[in-house]
Amino acid sequence: MTQAETSVDFVRGIVADDSRSGKFDGRVVTRFPPEPNGYLHIGHAKSVCLNFGLAADFGGVCHLRFDDTNPSKEEVEYVRSIQEDVRWLGFDWGPNLFYASDYFGQLYEYAIRLIEKGKAYVCDLTPEEVREYRGNLTEPGKESPYRNRSVEENLDLLRRMRAGDFESGERTLRAKIDMASPNLNLRDPVLYRILKETHHRTGDVWPIYPMYDFAHGQSDSIENVTHSVCTLEFEDHRPLYDWLQDELDIYHSQQIEFARLNITHTVLSKRRLIQLVDEEYVNGWDDPRLPTISGLRRRGYTPEALRDFCDRIGVAKRDNTVDIALLEYTLRDHLNKRSLRVMGVLDPLKVVITNYPEGKSEDVVSVNNPEDMSMGERKIKFSRTVYIEKDDFREVPLPKFYRLSPGREVRLKDAFYITCNEVIKDEATGEIIELRCTYDPETYGGTSADGRKVRGTSHWVSAAHAVDAEVRIYDHLFSTEDPDDVPDGGVFTDNLNPESLVVMKGCKLEQGLRKAKPGERFQFLRMGYFVVDSDSTPEAPVFNRTVALRDTWARMDQARKQSR
Ligand code: ATP
Ligand code: MG
Repeated sequence: MTQAETSVDFVRGIVADDSRSGKFDGRVVTRFPPEPNGYLHIGHAKSVCLNFGLAADFGGVCHLRFDDTNPSKEEVEYVRSIQEDVRWLGFDWGPNLFYASDYFGQLYEYAIRLIEKGKAYVCDLTPEEVREYRGNLTEPGKESPYRNRSVEENLDLLRRMRAGDFESGERTLRAKIDMASPNLNLRDPVLYRILKETHHRTGDVWPIYPMYDFAHGQSDSIENVTHSVCTLEFEDHRPLYDWLQDELDIYHSQQIEFARLNITHTVLSKRRLIQLVDEEYVNGWDDPRLPTISGLRRRGYTPEALRDFCDRIGVAKRDNTVDIALLEYTLRDHLNKRSLRVMGVLDPLKVVITNYPEGKSEDVVSVNNPEDMSMGERKIKFSRTVYIEKDDFREVPLPKFYRLSPGREVRLKDAFYITCNEVIKDEATGEIIELRCTYDPETYGGTSADGRKVRGTSHWVSAAHAVDAEVRIYDHLFSTEDPDDVPDGGVFTDNLNPESLVVMKGCKLEQGLRKAKPGERFQFLRMGYFVVDSDSTPEAPVFNRTVALRDTWARMDQARKQSR
């Protein structure tokens, strides 16, 4: 079932009404219009899912349009990554890939049309003066002294701006609307500015560039977009959006605003993400701690989980902040159903099984996914020396600690019961470095023939067969729910979580993981969901923890605290 069938958000409501009334002849054309000045993040995913989802639900199309009106050197990389991310999320723009820069010629014609109608003028005020003259919410603006230039003079000046006769910032083209409007966006907004910079697609052809407000709506119109869905901060721009399309007498698209996504413990602002990357608080745009699509992908998120998350949060008209726990819950729910279960010991403690013959090994059988028996079983090697998790042993167990301790019998998952007889410590430090145990050969498969029960089960890995790996454990990027929650004079980076990345080396994983390839996902029993990192090689495997199995983790955490 699509979301339209299960629940109708207000945007779908509007589109459904328009389809019914024939407002756009029943057509639905949406667009996703990223500015190629950064990588996409999960907030963009919400917009992607909404725009492409609308097109899919109503038999329409969704365009991918780069809003590239601001020349800058790095745009090519961003254009590439944005396409990759939208495709990875599962959406296809087909032949409808556009660039606002393709319309520079048309937009220039529109500017001339406005001047000819007496609706735009060339203004010589400096950017600071323009700001000063604009007034504010309580005071009306002042009219520019250049506001009443003749059509001929304006046309001549615009032509010379276009020819490159003036320097950056010397003049602007402004709409002639109303300097006393209560809406600041209507106080003669700037439509064109002079900017002598090379553009990633048009090179040095244009010394003037259209402003966002002039480019965006007219691009929608040129593409015959029916519903131009954007975030709430553009609500106050809608009167200008409408004014321009009306004055130009061109195809009129309907702008609809919805609330942008915010998530706790992270930031979803490109400016801040750029800062985190540039100032090396994180390791690049695809750092698994970032909420970028490429970061989430590397972290092990699936496109299905992200789409499901976007469905769950819905589309509303009021700003709100979503708990990151919902994102993690959605991911866990999704991974649970399809992840191969394996064993990996992150913090290994050596266990020697003294009554197991040296040099011998045997197979035990483990179910690949108890949630989905069709995923089958696999064989794992058992031998005389195994590793267990350090946390699964306590020399002095507290009440409710059911795992291994001296004299106690526990189950090694799918293998045998073992009993701990001796604890070996480092003479110098007193640290426990090895356990000596015996096993009961009658408990193969982890069940005892005499019905004897044990309370604890531990995961384990055979030392002789283990894959040595690096495992990267992630936590929230920011310690506080709201990264902006800083005392006076503080900055959001003060709230970065110093433990957002913990690198564990010398982890021991079951042998089958040796051939796992970057991007492959697993559940390590009791430890969480993991993905092979893009840095991983067969010689030096690296795994990222995508997300913990919260319940288990919470329980282990508790046990650890009790034992302290
Ligand atoms: P920022 O304001 O952080 O620089 P932006 O909104 O300017 O980001 P764009 O590339 O212009 O980034 O965004 C492309 C589309 O994605 C826009 O339609 C925008 O409204 C939408 N979008 C951006 N951030 C979010 C968000 N957090 N939630 C929902 N939609 C978003
Ligand atoms: Mg924007």
